[in-house]
Amino acid sequence: MPEDSKIQKTINLCVRRGFVFPSAEIYGSFGGFFDYGPAGAELKANVRQSWWRRFVQNREDMLGLDGAVLTHPRIWKASGHVDAFNDPLVQCQKCKHRFRADHLIEQELHESVDGISEAKLNELFKKHKLACPDCKGALSEAKKFNLMFKTSVGATEDNYAYLRPETAQVIFANFKYLQQIGRKALPFGIAQAGRSFRNEISPRNFVFRGREFEQMEIEFFLHPDKLDDCPDFDRISKHKALFCTEADQKTGHTGHEMSFGDAVKKKIIQTRWHAYWLAEALDWFAGLGLTKVRLRQHRSDELSHYAKETWDVEYDYPEWGWKELMGIANRTDFDLLAHAKESGKDMTVFDEATKQKVVPHVIEPSFGLDRLVFTLLLDAFEEKKDAPKAAANEGNSANADGKARKPTTPAVEVKTILHLSPIVAPIKVAVFPLMKKDGLGEKAWDVYTALKKTLPQSVYDESGSIGKRYARQDELGTPYCITVDHQTLEDGTVTLRERDSGGQTRVKMDKIADAIDG
Ligand code: ATP
Repeated sequence: MPEDSKIQKTINLCVRRGFVFPSAEIYGSFGGFFDYGPAGAELKANVRQSWWRRFVQNREDMLGLDGAVLTHPRIWKASGHVDAFNDPLVQCQKCKHRFRADHLIEQELHESVDGISEAKLNELFKKHKLACPDCKGALSEAKKFNLMFKTSVGATEDNYAYLRPETAQVIFANFKYLQQIGRKALPFGIAQAGRSFRNEISPRNFVFRGREFEQMEIEFFLHPDKLDDCPDFDRISKHKALFCTEADQKTGHTGHEMSFGDAVKKKIIQTRWHAYWLAEALDWFAGLGLTKVRLRQHRSDELSHYAKETWDVEYDYPEWGWKELMGIANRTDFDLLAHAKESGKDMTVFDEATKQKVVPHVIEPSFGLDRLVFTLLLDAFEEKKDAPKAAANEGNSANADGKARKPTTPAVEVKTILHLSPIVAPIKVAVFPLMKKDGLGEKAWDVYTALKKTLPQSVYDESGSIGKRYARQDELGTPYCITVDHQTLEDGTVTLRERDSGGQTRVKMDKIADAIDG
């Protein structure tokens, strides 16, 4: 990535301000693993909490789950992951570097080959005489590489287990038990946020593709004959989105704007419940400030083995172009039937309305937390160049000693602002004394400690000039700064500065929380 690209600048900011950085740097880092520092941990927790509140706590039809990370091997046998969770791998015969075959082709030929067979990939390698990008050596044939991490459990090496490569299967394995203890009738969902692990062949693009990452997944269970029976559909049917259909992809079109109502009427989206969940996801993203997105239909040659229909929410990345942010799949009854077969347990639910015992079908909105956090940071990133300031006395033709002055190049100050939504910003408000003396430090500390009771994500800063302190907070995405000055001691007001406009207003100390909320 060139140093002046927006993505690279955002990565630099992430590392410089401790949002997120490669893990174990003191040992030369550990490919595909990342650590989140104070600002990143708060940001990530805010996004997770917003998701949990909206999709679990604020709904009557959702059950929460926090399942195990190390999981029984039969779960993954049933789900098909043992046999089919593979990516195509090629290895250079000379330098032995390994690459993901489809990514290499996409990089060299600039065409999407997501999901195509190894045989077809090998044809493309031959046809275009593709070689190792690092040393130009000959490449091996593409072969399947399973992405699951395997480890042994207990004192014997034969007892193995997998680190879950997705959170979804832990939901399916618990489906019947949770339905019973949650006393839920169809339709209802189970949601889980937690870590997943994939032994990605070539983790790249920073946290966009890591080997350990967090997912936030919902499995929404429906009567198989009622995938159009969605009571909330009317509410979302007029919402619009940019749809990139399979036909658009064949003609290289970005997509067309359409309402969800029209997309269902024209059978572009097959079912109302699928449309509803796509609209819900976009609405949540918009609430976090993310609007540069489109819905891309999976082509028939790229659909996963379990899916009947899948749409990805894609974001338009500055240097990468459109890429998957999350996916929403119609998984039918594939997983419940697979677990019923492997475990011998009943996965049916009695539907009171139809008096039928059915194996539910599933719509799965699958969000990636790390990918979303990085996308929010990138989307919020802005560099502002201040007009060159003439140095003091610039224009005088001579110095005090009478010698001719060397012309100086006026410095252009570059400031970084993260326009993060207050919902996710790691720090909501920063409190400064204008100066430490005259009792201003103590007063500002009192304001800060009072505020922290209701807004725990507040900080206090008294070092450096006010301008430097504003700049420090702008880089962290803090939406509000409060300055305590001499007037505060007289009339109990403080200066409230808003990040995006830079506007400053005087506010009574006891009205700060209202001003920030408003
Ligand atoms: P990709 O095609 O980018 O590999 P995927 O289609 O395999 O992704 P899913 O299995 O649908 O991804 O997982 C759901 C979500 O989990 C993705 O949309 C993404 O946000 C996140 N995700 C998947 N793999 C990774 C990864 N290696 N690193 C970070 N996030 C990931």
